[in-house]
Amino acid sequence: MTPKLVLVVVDGMTPAAFERAVESGRAPALAFLAGRGDYRLATSVFPSLTPACLTSIATGAGPGVHHIPSLVWWNRQERRIVEYGSSFAALRAAGLSQSLLDPIFNMNARHLAPGAVTIYEALEDAGFVAAAVNITCYRGRHRHLTTLPGVRRAAYGPSRFFFYGLFESDRTGAPFAVRSRRAGSVDTYAAAVGRWLVTRDGFDFLAFYLSGYDFVSHAAGPDGEAADRALEQADAAIGTLLDAAGGPDEFLERYAVVLLSDHGQTSVGRVARLEEPFADLEGQVVVAASNRAGQIYLLPGARVDPAELAQRLDGFPAVDVTLRLEEDGVVARRDGGDDPVEKLEHPDAAWRARSALADPNAGELLVSAAEGWELADLGGRHHAGGGSHGSLVAGDSFVPVVTVGLQAELHRITDVAPAVLAHFGVAAPKSMEALAGVG
Ligand SMILES: [Zn+2]
Repeated sequence: MTPKLVLVVVDGMTPAAFERAVESGRAPALAFLAGRGDYRLATSVFPSLTPACLTSIATGAGPGVHHIPSLVWWNRQERRIVEYGSSFAALRAAGLSQSLLDPIFNMNARHLAPGAVTIYEALEDAGFVAAAVNITCYRGRHRHLTTLPGVRRAAYGPSRFFFYGLFESDRTGAPFAVRSRRAGSVDTYAAAVGRWLVTRDGFDFLAFYLSGYDFVSHAAGPDGEAADRALEQADAAIGTLLDAAGGPDEFLERYAVVLLSDHGQTSVGRVARLEEPFADLEGQVVVAASNRAGQIYLLPGARVDPAELAQRLDGFPAVDVTLRLEEDGVVARRDGGDDPVEKLEHPDAAWRARSALADPNAGELLVSAAEGWELADLGGRHHAGGGSHGSLVAGDSFVPVVTVGLQAELHRITDVAPAVLAHFGVAAPKSMEALAGVG
């Protein structure tokens, strides 16, 4: 019999934070899993921002296939900014009622490419039961109504579907409170749902997503005591799953495990507005920036080309490298000079850049921020003095991966979905490019 499998995603956990937690003895659940499994580093996608990353994990494909380009982007068809939640101020600037619909419904129902098969769809089509807790890429075959009174719009998720108290396929009694996000209440909800699911052994595959660590690491920086304490809370949530099976050993008798993060984080001390170098091009370009990545879109009738956009950022200290498509491939511009992207030394840069630029929702020019810099969001908010991510640099890009009971080596976050399907003996769909060998 195939062991069932639990996928745990700890948002923003860096390899250094993971290793510190395991070695210090402060994270018994992480240490147990690390001790019983294989540990390695994998690379994230570009931009290394959560909506793009979680969708890449759940679809086994990069942005070029799944079409979720970033945390904030310009929707050419609807001629509007899509903002999944850089900050409350950014949501308000993008139009609050619309912006609440985008992450809850539209990301999965409209923006996610129909042809990018999710892990839940592939497994449930093959007769397995899939469960998802709080992960933002959730598209499945089952219709779910919200718990919000008066909201009749439904979402399609896996058969067991729990999403921040807004969708609950089963009554678990888990309390949901957003009041004290910093104190970890979102992950407390995830842990309570996870306990309910493991206690009943109510799934073949569970995607279990913890967001609290990233939130604290943004505010306090990735390398301080506050972030380490937040990782203890994530560890406690994972420990809840182990306990619900009757203990760590009993948990591993029942489940294989993949544990990873979606991207890293690096310290940021300075902030810039990516809009500034393009201020005179109003009506010709749209700038969408957040955290440590940005995209510049050319509007119809623009009298500039992507190469000119890139040149405008020469000497702009917040920018490390820009990426654009030219006839003979992806061009990376750095320090005022153009090179083929293959010359970049950033982790897995060529594949990540190609996949990002193959996304029809991407800008004509992609911007990766320099070490220590952040790009203010639409609402002017940033995390200077704390942590951030989104760029191609190693600290934003490498993630820790632990696998227990899985016959696969995961080198990119897009390797997770096809490896999990192989574990269940399910053929990976063509859209899962890692197995198809693209790039
Ligand atoms: Zn983040």
